[in-house]
Amino acid sequence: MKIEFGLEDLAKYPFLKEAGDYVKGLSLSIEDLRQDDYQPALKRAKERVIEAIQKNFISIEILEPNLEILSFPLALMLVKAIGIDYFMHRYSLAESLRAERLLEKEKKSIISNIFKSAFNVNLISTEHDVFDFKMSMIDYLIRATHFHKPEWKLINRIVEKGFVYVKTHELVRLMREEIRRIVYERMKSLSLPKIPENIKEIVDEISKALPPVPSKELQEVTPGMFPPCVMHVLDLLQKGQNVPHYGRFLLTSYFLGIGKSVDEVINIYPKAPDFSERLTRYQVEHIAGMRGGRRRYKVPSCRTLITHGLCFKDEILCDRIKNPLQFGRKPVNFKKKN
Ligand code: SF4
Repeated sequence: MKIEFGLEDLAKYPFLKEAGDYVKGLSLSIEDLRQDDYQPALKRAKERVIEAIQKNFISIEILEPNLEILSFPLALMLVKAIGIDYFMHRYSLAESLRAERLLEKEKKSIISNIFKSAFNVNLISTEHDVFDFKMSMIDYLIRATHFHKPEWKLINRIVEKGFVYVKTHELVRLMREEIRRIVYERMKSLSLPKIPENIKEIVDEISKALPPVPSKELQEVTPGMFPPCVMHVLDLLQKGQNVPHYGRFLLTSYFLGIGKSVDEVINIYPKAPDFSERLTRYQVEHIAGMRGGRRRYKVPSCRTLITHGLCFKDEILCDRIKNPLQFGRKPVNFKKKN
């Protein structure tokens, strides 16, 4: 059965094949992008890229669905034209987070349709008191394998006749990683045409606004998205600036808390102005509970980080978070703000 999406849906989820078909149907050529008619879509594409690359965020407001749909492939072209793989990852992540925010308040029927269209997965809606859908165990396992918290383990799930019960916000979380991958692969496979002068100018403007690319070691240990407090300390380190003692404590306890090894955590620090491997190892092992009183230190709470001037709260993504470890794991209340 053919899945039908409205224009508004395609504007919200422009990574869908149906949105791509819609853009193909416009039969645009790269030369058309010089025309005045397409300047608003290029402007929105530029906004998308700058927001994504600077703040890991893309606004979800949709003023004009046609423009929003078209701005997505244009944004992919702009990021590809920058020519730095790190920013392609960063952009893909921001698109997946945008989709996640929209999906959290989506109707069940749309969520099922997106699962079918984008991932070829059949979801079955349920009338269960707690769970909204069930999905085949294989489809669940393929996706949940990336998550290491106990609640994702099959042994902790309700399973019935080969189906796993899931809540909507769990499904949305499962989708985030796949959407990120779809966006990245689409960008990676794009072959860039000869770009007209007006688009080159936009690429140059974006290039001037790019944050520094983290060192290879840092990229290896930090492939995902982290809370703004952690990103702030990482940025200081990346620029070779001095990081306050409590900032180092946050970074070390956070990365140990998300499962990084002592060696991986030490790899974050070589750019610090006063870096000493011996001292860094001692401090990281101390926080990991491998020395002295063998007490493993916990990640400080958001409240404590506020008092140390290290909280750079994102009103949406940090909503209802009490500890940086909850970042990206708690369902977000998107009703407050678009
Ligand atoms: S609210 Fe918490 S997680 Fe968010 S930036 Fe502040 S300290 Fe970090």
